[in-house]
Amino acid sequence: MPTDMQLVSDNDTGVDSAEQASKKGISIISEAVCEAVVGRPDAFTAVENVFAAMASGDAYNFPVVREAIGHADALYGFKSGFDQAGMALGVKSGGYWPGNAAKGLTNHQSTIVLFDPDTGQVKSIVGGNYLTAVRTAASSAVSIAHLARKDAKVLGMVGAGHQSTFQLRAAVEQRDFEKVIAWNPHPEHLPRLAAVCEELGLPFEAVDRQQLGAQADVIITITSAFEPLLMNDWIKPGTHIACMGTDTKGKQEVDPALLVSATLFTDEVAQSISIGEAQHAFTSGLIHSADITPIGEVINGNHPGRRSAEQITLFDGTGVGLQDLAVATVAAKLAEKQGLANWIGL
Ligand code: NAD
Repeated sequence: MPTDMQLVSDNDTGVDSAEQASKKGISIISEAVCEAVVGRPDAFTAVENVFAAMASGDAYNFPVVREAIGHADALYGFKSGFDQAGMALGVKSGGYWPGNAAKGLTNHQSTIVLFDPDTGQVKSIVGGNYLTAVRTAASSAVSIAHLARKDAKVLGMVGAGHQSTFQLRAAVEQRDFEKVIAWNPHPEHLPRLAAVCEELGLPFEAVDRQQLGAQADVIITITSAFEPLLMNDWIKPGTHIACMGTDTKGKQEVDPALLVSATLFTDEVAQSISIGEAQHAFTSGLIHSADITPIGEVINGNHPGRRSAEQITLFDGTGVGLQDLAVATVAAKLAEKQGLANWIGL
């Protein structure tokens, strides 16, 4: 059994059979290798497929665990699930360590462990930090692909933190955007988005929130806000909004009245009403869970999605464990195929 050594695949396709993989042991896929092998199109396809599998009942998420551990101010937890269509079984474990930045580390830290669904044996250990960003960006991109107006020209970004540039890069691939406008509660972070726009050759403008609502055809919110940043009255007809920042009880990015005006979609309804953007409108009785459509229904052709050019569509992207397993499976397969995985014995 090889230990701590790099191996290349030994079959024609480069993808190991379960038997070959189990002979090699456990593949370790580092953060750097994930970045090298998983591109935005890979993440888009993996996330779109898993949303479709969730809607058709082939994939399901297990209850999320998230706890304050009483050390280093950290929040730690697990997101887990099983995708029978993609044969992905595993867990993303990690959380938020607020003191990490001072140590030169990312505050959000996570690792994904994949298991063989036939035997329960551990298959792969995969770095989860880059994959979290790329799968979250893929989620809003899938929503734009399926729900935004085809003639959308102006992209509005609310938020300019770590996730925002991943969101921006994935979004601009979905429509022929001619301009990006942005607002952030901490304006000193906006040059981060401006730099990406310059690289992509897209005009960029910092605007106030009302201007953003009046001009944007597609809006992505990706902040850590606990209060509404965008009001219902500011949003023009026909806009598609992807609310991506609210992933915890208490967080909030938009006016609950906007959840009433808009046609609602999500990755998973149970998370949307408990930890997602819909939690506030739901708990105050403004909307019911039946008002929210899993985006997989649209992907599978069982729901028309946008019905008119004037409709406002809102995607509540709460972030599900199956997204992590989907992109980690891609990372492991590609890394193993390209000889970039490290292996240890079982
Ligand atoms: P970050 O810390 O790098 O950036 C935070 C952003 O929120 C910045 O734009 C900052 O200016 C803004 N902000 C900070 N405090 C705020 C406040 N009190 N009110 C309003 N805005 C505030 O974080 P990030 O990694 O870019 O993540 C952004 C958000 O996305 C977080 O809430 C994170 O939990 C969430 N997230 C969601 C998913 C998902 O799948 N839906 C995945 C990853 C991250």
